[in-house]
Amino acid sequence: MLVTAVALGVAALAFSRRNLARKAAPVIPSYTSTRSRQSKTFEEAVLLGLANDGGLFCPTSVPCIDFAKLEKLSYSEVAGEIFKLYVPEASIPHQALQGLVDKTYLTNPLFRTRKVTPTIRLEQTNVSLMELFHGPTFAFKDIALQFLGNLFEFLLAKKQPAMKITVVGATSGDTGSSAIHGLAGKTGINCVILFPKGRVSPVQELQMTTVADENVFCCPVRDGTFDDCQDMVKLCFKDEKFRAKYNLAAVNSINWARILAQITYYFVSYFEVRQRTSKPVVFVVPTGNFGDILAGYYAKRMGLPIHKLVVATNENDILDRFFQNGAYERREVTPTITPSMDICVSSNFERFLYHMLGDDAEQTRALMSEFEQTKRFQLPAPAFAKCKREMESSMVTEAEIRAQMKRTLEQDAYLLDPHTAVGVAAAKKLQAKYPSEDVEYVCLATAHWAKFADAVEGAVGPKVTTEWVANHFPQEFEKIKQLPTRSFELEPTVASVQAFIQDKIPATATTA
Ligand SMILES: *Cc1c(COP(=O)(O)O)cnc(C)c1O
Repeated sequence: MLVTAVALGVAALAFSRRNLARKAAPVIPSYTSTRSRQSKTFEEAVLLGLANDGGLFCPTSVPCIDFAKLEKLSYSEVAGEIFKLYVPEASIPHQALQGLVDKTYLTNPLFRTRKVTPTIRLEQTNVSLMELFHGPTFAFKDIALQFLGNLFEFLLAKKQPAMKITVVGATSGDTGSSAIHGLAGKTGINCVILFPKGRVSPVQELQMTTVADENVFCCPVRDGTFDDCQDMVKLCFKDEKFRAKYNLAAVNSINWARILAQITYYFVSYFEVRQRTSKPVVFVVPTGNFGDILAGYYAKRMGLPIHKLVVATNENDILDRFFQNGAYERREVTPTITPSMDICVSSNFERFLYHMLGDDAEQTRALMSEFEQTKRFQLPAPAFAKCKREMESSMVTEAEIRAQMKRTLEQDAYLLDPHTAVGVAAAKKLQAKYPSEDVEYVCLATAHWAKFADAVEGAVGPKVTTEWVANHFPQEFEKIKQLPTRSFELEPTVASVQAFIQDKIPATATTA
C-alpha cells in the first residue's frame, strides 16, 4: 500500500516536472549535420543545402503531432501545421509561413487539382495510388520545388541587405524542369540548368526551354553526357572565389526543405484512404535518392500510424541489397526505362542511417568515410535490425515493370508511368508474399505516363500507345510545342559555364 502510494507520488512528481519542463522550454526547431554536432537554424540549413563537413542537415528532434487534428483540413492547412513544427518563428513568422504555403498549394494555378495530391483506387489491381504528378512538369518533384521557390524568395528578401543567389544544377530531365518551374520569376534568384544536348526527352527539353522568365537559363551542353554536366557544376562549386562571387546555391534532393514539403502528402493521403477503409496503410515508394521515402519515415515518427514503408527499386538495387544483409555497396549504374531511379548511391540514405544509429554523427561519419574510400560498408547488426523494423524493400526488374503497366491498363484502364509501375509491381509481390495480411497498399505515383511515352510504347505496344496519345495526352504537352524556346548552348567545360555566368549574371554576393 505504502509502496504504491510512494510510487504514485514519484510518478506524479515526475509527471508534473515533465509538464513544467515542457512549458518552461518549448523546443525550438534546430538542425545538425549527420557527420558532426552542429547547431544551425532552419534558414541556414535550407540556404546552405549541404553541411561544411559533407553531411546532410537533420532536425535535432522530430516533433510529434496529434494527427487526428489534421483530418478535416485542406492540403494547404495540413502543410502549414506540419511546417510550423520545423520552422521557428524567428526564421519565418508563422503567419507569413502560412502565406507562403497558401501561395504554393491553395492559390497556385500551376497545380491542376484542388486536392494537390489525390489518392485514387485501382480496384482490379487492388492498390491505391497517390497521384503526385498534377504539378507543372507532371512529376512529383514539383510538389516540393514549388514551395522551395517561394521559400527561397522569402528568406533572401528578409536579409539586410537583400541577398541574391545563383542556383546552378545539372539534370538528366526531371529535377531540372521542376527546379526551373519552381524558381522562374522569383526575386533574388538566378537559375542556370545544364543538360546533355539531345539526351533528355523532347518533352523534358521543352518543359525547360519554353520557360520565358529572364532569371532562367537553360543550357544544353554540346557533346556532353549527364556526368559531364554534373562535373561542370561540381567544379563551379569547388572554385571558392567563383562560388562566393555569385552566391552559388543548389536545390538538389538533399535540401531539407524538399524533404519537409514531402511529409505533407503522406498525411493527406492517409486521411483520404481512411474514408474508404479502416485497413492498416502501407506506403510503397519508387525510390532513387531516398528523398520521398525519407519524408514518409518522418511522417511516421511524427505519429502518423503508417503500418509499413516499402522501398521499391529498379535493377539499380543498392538499397534492396542493403535491406537484405546490411551491406551498402556501390556498383555501376545500368540505364533502365525508369531513369529517375537510376542511381549508384542514394544521397538521402545517409539521413536514415544517422537516425538508425541513434543520431550518432561520429559513427555516421566513419561509415560514410569508409564508403567513400572502399565503396562499401557493413552496418552493425543492432542498427541493421532497426532499419528492418522501419522499412522493407523490393526490387523490380525491367520485364516486371512492363508487365505491370500492361496488366493495370487491361484490368483498370489506367496507364502507369514506368516509375509508378515499379511501386505497383512491388506491392503485388508483397501481397503474394504475405497472403494473409489484410492491409491497404498505397503506391506513390511519381510521374505521368505521357512523360515517358517511349517506355509506354515498349510496354503496351505502338497501337495502344497511339490510341492513348490521341485520347488522353495532356493538352499542356501539345501547347508547349507552340511556344518560343530560349536556351544557351555551352561547351562541355567548366570554363564555358563560368564565362557564361560572368556574362549573363552580375556578381551577386556584394550586391546591395
Ligand atoms: C526523382 C524521382 C523518383 C525517385 O525519388 P527519390 O526521392 O529520389 O527517391 C522516382 N520517380 C520519379 C518520376 C522521379 O522523378
